[in-house]
Amino acid sequence: MNSFSQLQLAPNLAKAVAEMGYESMTPIQAQAIPVVLSGQDVMGAAQTGTGKTAAFSLPLLQRMLKHENASTSPARHPVRALVLLPTRELADQVAQQVKMYAKYTQLRCAVVFGGMDMKPQTLELKKGVEVLVATPGRLLDHIEAKTAVLNQVEYVVLDEADRMLDIGFLPDLQRILSYLPKQRTTLLFSATFSPEIKRLAASYLQNPVTIEVARPNQTASTVTQLFYSVPDDDKRRALKQIVKQRGISQAFVFVNSKLGCARLARSLEREGLKTTALHGDKSQDERLKALDAFKKGEVDLLVCTDVAARGLDIKDVPAVFNFDIPYNAEDYIHRIGRTGRAGAEGLAVSFASPTDTRLVTDIEKLTKQKIELLGFEFDDDRPSGRINNGRRHWNDDDASSEVSSDQPPAARSRFVPPPKVHDPFFDQPYQPAEQPPDVATKTEQVLSHSRSISPNIKPKRTVAALFKTTVTD
Ligand code: AMP
Repeated sequence: MNSFSQLQLAPNLAKAVAEMGYESMTPIQAQAIPVVLSGQDVMGAAQTGTGKTAAFSLPLLQRMLKHENASTSPARHPVRALVLLPTRELADQVAQQVKMYAKYTQLRCAVVFGGMDMKPQTLELKKGVEVLVATPGRLLDHIEAKTAVLNQVEYVVLDEADRMLDIGFLPDLQRILSYLPKQRTTLLFSATFSPEIKRLAASYLQNPVTIEVARPNQTASTVTQLFYSVPDDDKRRALKQIVKQRGISQAFVFVNSKLGCARLARSLEREGLKTTALHGDKSQDERLKALDAFKKGEVDLLVCTDVAARGLDIKDVPAVFNFDIPYNAEDYIHRIGRTGRAGAEGLAVSFASPTDTRLVTDIEKLTKQKIELLGFEFDDDRPSGRINNGRRHWNDDDASSEVSSDQPPAARSRFVPPPKVHDPFFDQPYQPAEQPPDVATKTEQVLSHSRSISPNIKPKRTVAALFKTTVTD
């Protein structure tokens, strides 16, 4: 048993942890906390939901207690720890957690992110804070306004680093890191160790200890994964039917674009399902309200994009729908990781349209599981054709039979399956996934483009508009 008492945390931190009700350390905590306490750099492969926020913030707070003071002078409270995250929601959540852990200390924590008035953030920063949680763009605004001074930073945490690179934050990160003292501890957390992440770590971390607790190709065994072949036009109907038939109380519904997200949420709402949307075009206030409503159970379906949903602290969602198959197979793992947590039963339903063959194959390769494509039987007037117990293999030759003849020709197009051969790939031991070449190329393009633009131009917009990648926020 990995008890927090083994760590000899300062009593004021131990008290806060006890109040949180944590009984034992999670694997990332058990491995990372002693390393961070010893002052070493860490490169951690861990996803949200693994307890990684406490894994970095508890030892960081413990090491900063020597600076604790009750002075009201801002000069006595310089920024000593910086935590960078890709999205506003994540920054907000991490700051809330850090504040909880620090509540019995005199260390101050503040959060800054875009989409909000800068003034209240400026006022807080001017009073002095030891731990600053931020998204890169807004932090640069504060650095330029001289409200954030980083020359006394001892700790920097790059959290969800892969996602920060996906969004195109590399130039911003490089600028921010150039303001920090060289003598510091750097912690980098990422769901995957892609070549870009390794390059980032090689540039900014010193002899990091690598900690890997959840391999990127793992899906929880408690999640039932179903893949249905459903033409785009029928997906909404299929979703409604599954929700009704299985009595699903709440679910995340993932789509690939902001526009698709807004449209789907609106039409589901019109059809009487209590739905809300979460995507990057919503104001901060709207997003927080949407989240709050979902958490309170006032809405049943949260339709969201990957970036908007990443890391949201919502537990025990009974089901996840992939209304669109994600462009990036690793997003599939993140998405379905929203259900079946902590040993609970979960359901992940994915709708594959005829053009999604390659994406489904990517998921099959990453997760090293055979994916059976099921025909979908609608309750109403549409016969589902020759389906054996509702299950079919990729290469059954009646792949389009579940589509009734009253569909438009496009919807009747055949799902082209990969050949049914025994693939020795699935018998091999685990090897970290490499990005498909086209994704890597896109990322390179995004990064090289981002380098040439002004840091004041929000890179996320450029990425989405130019490359139509999975980046939706
Ligand atoms: P994180 O992965 O840091 O986003 O944490 C996910 C959730 O796990 C948060 O709600 C934490 O409060 C919770 N958590 C963190 N550490 C523990 C622990 N040792 N035991 C139980 N829950 C924890």
